[in-house]
Amino acid sequence: MAGFEPIIGHSVALRLLGTLLARGSLAHALLFSGKAGLGKLTISRLLAMALNCDKRDLIGENKKGNEKFFPQRVPCKNCRNCRSIIAGNHPDVIVIDNKNKPIKIERVRSLIAALSMKVYGTGSKVAIVKAAHMLTLQAANALLKVLEEPPGNTIIILTAPHANDLLPTIVSRCQQIRFGSVNIETLANWLVGKVSGLDMEQARVLAAMADGRPAKALELANGGIAQRDRLLSMSGLDGKLTANKMDLISVLAWAAHMSASPETIDNRLSILETWLRDLVVASINPDLLINKDRSEDLIAMASKTDPEQLLDCFDAVCSARRQLEANANRRLALEVMAMRLTKLLQHGFNQP
Ligand SMILES: [Zn+2]
Repeated sequence: MAGFEPIIGHSVALRLLGTLLARGSLAHALLFSGKAGLGKLTISRLLAMALNCDKRDLIGENKKGNEKFFPQRVPCKNCRNCRSIIAGNHPDVIVIDNKNKPIKIERVRSLIAALSMKVYGTGSKVAIVKAAHMLTLQAANALLKVLEEPPGNTIIILTAPHANDLLPTIVSRCQQIRFGSVNIETLANWLVGKVSGLDMEQARVLAAMADGRPAKALELANGGIAQRDRLLSMSGLDGKLTANKMDLISVLAWAAHMSASPETIDNRLSILETWLRDLVVASINPDLLINKDRSEDLIAMASKTDPEQLLDCFDAVCSARRQLEANANRRLALEVMAMRLTKLLQHGFNQP
């Protein structure tokens, strides 16, 4: 189904939603918290379908076995309502997805106006605000008013990485449902079935690199292993570059390569983090490696490297991530990170 990924994992959250739906005790405002890429938006849309599906009356018939009830029984994903929610054009389901950019008050005002209108179909109005931590203060305060006095027959779902990222007054008005990482083995199995030509070992690497996030793992599977190898080779972190080759020009070229496509920076930083973590782990317990397909390289490099230096490298990556999250200059933050890493590498395993 285009634009609608199947759900994997999250059995606790789904069971809870199923129970709340079956009992009719779903709050009018929900907060789905958890890292990006776990499937919070997909499950929000699934819930919107459950509330609007033509066959939603099954809710009443299935009260006994409600652990199986959601999402298996409801919604059908095939009726007119379900299909138009999947296609993103259902008049009663409004999704605000500002691609991680600030969500301004005008957007919230138009949402409020849409919610004040009569329900078009026979189900409920559902508003989904993706990445609600990106609401500006004004926008958040405007939304708060709707959460305080919601229009009838309306469910508002907010998604965010952590409840702490939102105004406490907003959080206190929401029923919070937390989403955790999907188990690596479950995710790897799912990936193997989904991506042709992927073997289980590679799938485990990708699942771990994605930190148990299905959407992220899928994104990485499309060229993730090759992207990792290219990045490690450019950075010299695979130990194959000699110190004198890592001149300033190559370091800056590497930073430019990373900053060129902003949407992949998060992946690239994750690759560096898991690699550095593996270098620390390699000398202690190789069974715990994430990049298992490169275990020989990792063990050889780890034997030549001081763990203290690796921790400094890790710190360089983490502080670049923090700066980027705080909207620092992207290119500059990555250049500083690249220079710090190179300096550390030149004193570590690239020594002739
Ligand atoms: Zn349906």
